[in-house]
Amino acid sequence: MKAAVVSNERTVSVVDKQLRPLKHGEALVQVEYCGVCHTDLHVKNGDFGDVTGVVLGHEGVGKVIEVAEGVTSLKVGDRVAIAWLYESCGHCEYCNSGRETLCRDVKNSGYTVDGAMAEQVIVAADYAVKVPDGLDPAAATSISCAGVTTYKAVKVSQIQPGGWIGVFGIGGLGNLAVQYAKNVFGAKVVAFDINDNKLAFAKEVGADVVVNTLNEDPKERALEITDGKGLDAVVITAVAKQPFNQAVDVVKAGARVVAVGLPVDKMDLDIPRLVLDGIQVVGSLVGTRQDLKEAFQFAAEGKVVPKVTLRRIEEINDIMDEMEQGKFTGRMVIDFTK
Ligand code: NAD
Ligand code: ZN
Ligand code: ZN
Repeated sequence: MKAAVVSNERTVSVVDKQLRPLKHGEALVQVEYCGVCHTDLHVKNGDFGDVTGVVLGHEGVGKVIEVAEGVTSLKVGDRVAIAWLYESCGHCEYCNSGRETLCRDVKNSGYTVDGAMAEQVIVAADYAVKVPDGLDPAAATSISCAGVTTYKAVKVSQIQPGGWIGVFGIGGLGNLAVQYAKNVFGAKVVAFDINDNKLAFAKEVGADVVVNTLNEDPKERALEITDGKGLDAVVITAVAKQPFNQAVDVVKAGARVVAVGLPVDKMDLDIPRLVLDGIQVVGSLVGTRQDLKEAFQFAAEGKVVPKVTLRRIEEINDIMDEMEQGKFTGRMVIDFTK
C-alpha cells in the first residue's frame, strides 16, 4: 500500500509499505481521507526529534475492514477517526483523571506510531472514535485534530457566553477555533493574523473583528473593542513567538491565555504582569476521546464547517511548502478514495 513516510532529508517520501498482522484489540482501517496538519510539518522537519521512517498523518478518517481478537467497541464497516491520541496506558493518574492526552506512555499517530497518511492503518480499537453518520468524511478529517484541539482549547479558556475571545493564527486550526468559540460557546471573536487572506476567511467563518498584527497594534485594538478592559481569553494557534507575547498583552486581568501552536521557541513572560494581573498561561494538547466525540457532534449539527480541499498523496511535499508559506485557507486533505 502507498504511505507518506518521513525521510531523513526533511521531506516526505511516498513509498510502498506492508503492514504487520493485527494484534489483540486492534483494527485495520481502509483510509478514505487524511488532512495535513501543521504538526505533520513539524514532525517531518524533526522539530520534536528524529522520526525517520514513520508514516505521517493524524487527521485520518476511514472504514474498519478487519478486527482482531478482543475488539468489542468496533465492527467491520464502522467509520472512525485516526487522531493524534493513538493510545494511552489506561491506568495512570492522567488516564484515570480525564487527561489521557498527557499520559506518559501515550502513543501518537504519525509520530511515535504509523499514522493515517496511507491507504491503510492499524488502530487501537478502543481509541478509534467513531465518526457520526451525516458528517462528510472529508470534512470530518479536520475535526480529528484541528477541530478537537480548538474545541478543547476554547473549553480550557473558560470563555463565557457573550465574552470576547481572541484567536491568534487563523490557519487550519484557527478558523475552527473561531467557529467553535462563536457557534458553540456563544463568544464574540477577534481574529489576529499577519495574512490578509486568512483574515478574510476568519470574517467568512464568523469573526466579529479581524486584526492584521503587521499593520495594527493588537493591544490597542483589543482595548478599543472592549472599552479599555481587554479580552476575556485568548487561544494561540499561530506558529511564531511574537503572537504568544502579544496574546498576554491583549487580555484583561485574571484571563486565560491558552497556548496551542508549537513554534520551537520560548515566549517572554513579564512576571509582574503575570502575578499582579493574575494572568493564567496554559498549554492545551489535542483532546480526549470524549472531547473528540463532542467536537464531532457539533460539526455533524452544522455548527462548525471545515473548509477542505482534496489533493493527491503525491502532492504531499507541495502541500507542506504551501502551508509553510501561508498560501491557502482551511485544510488540504489527501484523498485515498480514488
Ligand atoms: P496553519 O499553518 O494552517 O496556520 C498557522 C497560522 O498562523 C496561519 O494562518 C499563519 O498566517 C498564522 N501565523 C503565522 N505567524 C503568525 C504571527 N506572527 N502572528 C499571527 N499569526 C501568525 O497551521 P495549523 O495546522 O493551524 O497548526 C497551527 C499550530 O498548532 C502548529 O504549530 C501545530 O503544530 C499546532 N498544533 C497543536 C496542537 C495541540 O494539540 N496543541 C494540535 C494541532 C496542531
Ligand atoms: Zn494536528
Ligand atoms: Zn496513562
